Amino acid sequence: MYKRNRPSWIAQTMKEESLSFRKRFGQNFLIDDNALDRIVDSLELEEGSNVLEIGPGLGALTERLVDRDINLIAVEIDRDLASILERDFKEENFQLIVEDVLKLELSQLPEPLIVLGNLPYYITSAIIMLFLESDLEIEHLVFMMQKEVADRLLAEPGSKDYGILSLITQLYGRVEKLFDVGKNCFMPAPKVESTVVRIRPRNEEVDPRTIEIIKAAFSLRRKTLLNSLATSFEKEEIRLALEKSKISPSIRAENLSLEDFLRISSNWPSPL
Ligand code: SAM
Repeated sequence: MYKRNRPSWIAQTMKEESLSFRKRFGQNFLIDDNALDRIVDSLELEEGSNVLEIGPGLGALTERLVDRDINLIAVEIDRDLASILERDFKEENFQLIVEDVLKLELSQLPEPLIVLGNLPYYITSAIIMLFLESDLEIEHLVFMMQKEVADRLLAEPGSKDYGILSLITQLYGRVEKLFDVGKNCFMPAPKVESTVVRIRPRNEEVDPRTIEIIKAAFSLRRKTLLNSLATSFEKEEIRLALEKSKISPSIRAENLSLEDFLRISSNWPSPL
């Protein structure tokens, strides 16, 4: 029934419009029906849901969404792809914004919002942070990304993937792996494997000091926590905070959990 993920349709459309896949925009189109259906199922759509799709491309996900009883907004940077979408999707519940998602005026978006995208891999982390740090009321984010980035988001203390991205994402939301998607599910096939991840934001205030502490703690990954934190803070205040939190100054940041960082932050002696 759906056609926009068929390799023959994609090839023909690109040829008719004299287009080529733009590497710089991370254009690897999803062609696998099963993966597309599973992404849509994982959105937990309800009648009237507000949905933002990042990077609709040729519309493989869009065509599965636009016939639902939802309010769908898509943001696409590539003007050529956008004109194909504008030509083909005239539904009243669909709005296309031709823009770099990182420059999007977020206050124009409806709330609460469900955000999804087979993300352009070159700006995955920036997109995740944009939405997690925003004031928007977000129900959840369902993003397809490079498997290595998903591993970092999901990483636990002590693992090689654990770091600033894991901690800051987990600080803002609960991260869940949904499923892996192989290279052959895309056209053209990327060099890397992909994973679909769901993030449910906690929608709570985050203390900027916690973020500053996490960033400083990982600034010298191989050094002790005391030395890393000393790149941004006074040694005396670090010692006080760690002592109160019952955390050894000689531990390494990669062995501390999110709860440990929250404790250090709440025991910090001076305001930012
Ligand atoms: N959703 C389509 C699919 O699943 O087949 C296309 C996914 S493709 C991996 C990424 C899409 O994001 C492309 O259409 C690309 O042009 C678009 N894109 C890249 N950078 C963008 C940006 N900064 N803002 C908005 N869209 C962007």
